[in-house]
Amino acid sequence: MDPSRPSYPATLNADLHCHSNASDGRLSPTELVDLAVELGVELLALTDHDSVDGLQAAAARASERGLAFVPGVELSVTWENRTLHVLGLNIDACNTTLQFALQELQRQRKQRAEQMAQRLEYVGLADGLRRAADCANGGQITRTHFARLLVEDGLCKDLKQAFKRYLGAGKPACVRSQWIDLSQAIKAIHAAGGLAVLAHPLRYRLSGAWRDRMYKAFKQAGGDGLEVSCGASQQPHELDELRRQALAHGLLASRGSDFHGPEQRWLKLGHLAPLSPRLSPVWTRLDALQTEDIDLATQGAHGKTG
Ligand code: AMP
Ligand code: MN
Ligand code: MN
Ligand code: MN
Repeated sequence: MDPSRPSYPATLNADLHCHSNASDGRLSPTELVDLAVELGVELLALTDHDSVDGLQAAAARASERGLAFVPGVELSVTWENRTLHVLGLNIDACNTTLQFALQELQRQRKQRAEQMAQRLEYVGLADGLRRAADCANGGQITRTHFARLLVEDGLCKDLKQAFKRYLGAGKPACVRSQWIDLSQAIKAIHAAGGLAVLAHPLRYRLSGAWRDRMYKAFKQAGGDGLEVSCGASQQPHELDELRRQALAHGLLASRGSDFHGPEQRWLKLGHLAPLSPRLSPVWTRLDALQTEDIDLATQGAHGKTG
């Protein structure tokens, strides 16, 4: 590494996973950046579901506020008939291979939203598709939007119940989608100059043996990192397991709160356990951030270089 360039220390308060209203987050990209600054986050990535639409506004605001910003995305992936989430960090949002993957994912989301709305009509949710689209306001429609409508209409008491009864895996309104496959997602992220990080590895309801297969498949497909520090509800033994797996599989380690909005009162941007000193933090490899002409230049904004 060029010694004239400042590098990010391992102890950086990085939060490399959160959502804006370009997908299922509550805050606009600008509000999200302001909140990150207020909370003392030192490096922020915006990673909306299958969308890069919030990146330009977030990067511009981050530049104004002097916050180091990483353009990101959270891709929906089908692996062995299951859905996994793969983060792309430090992507060039204009890259055509990535754009192609995003178009396919967005087409799937639209189709799935139509089917989910139909199924939810049977349980009493009226005009679900139009209302979900209104809530998403041009952004990606997710299950979270339908869950919010179920709560709004008094059909469920909270989001948790909406997922438990209707929207969670195997429930009546959960329409299975064939997302892009793991290697296509990783290739698209790499084509866009980004690093591929497996998001919240313990949230896929997999047995230990299946998780091991997942880590191996991810590494074999060219994956770069694991999200090791995953937010407020993470138990110490979970953090330990993820630290161990990152080391065992030779993967970089990331930190990400998966913040969606202030209604997640237990969760705050940047309030995450530190990585163990034995791990290699993903941000030590975000070299492009430390140059003047980072990818954001193509989006009309610059990240902080120090
Ligand atoms: P989708 O990508 O459209 O399938 O929606 C997935 C999103 O739903 C996740 O990113 C979470 O934000 C949200 N979600 C999934 N499970 C739950 C749950 N049990 N409670 C609240 N939100 C959930
Ligand atoms: Mn989400
Ligand atoms: Mn996710
Ligand atoms: Mn997420």
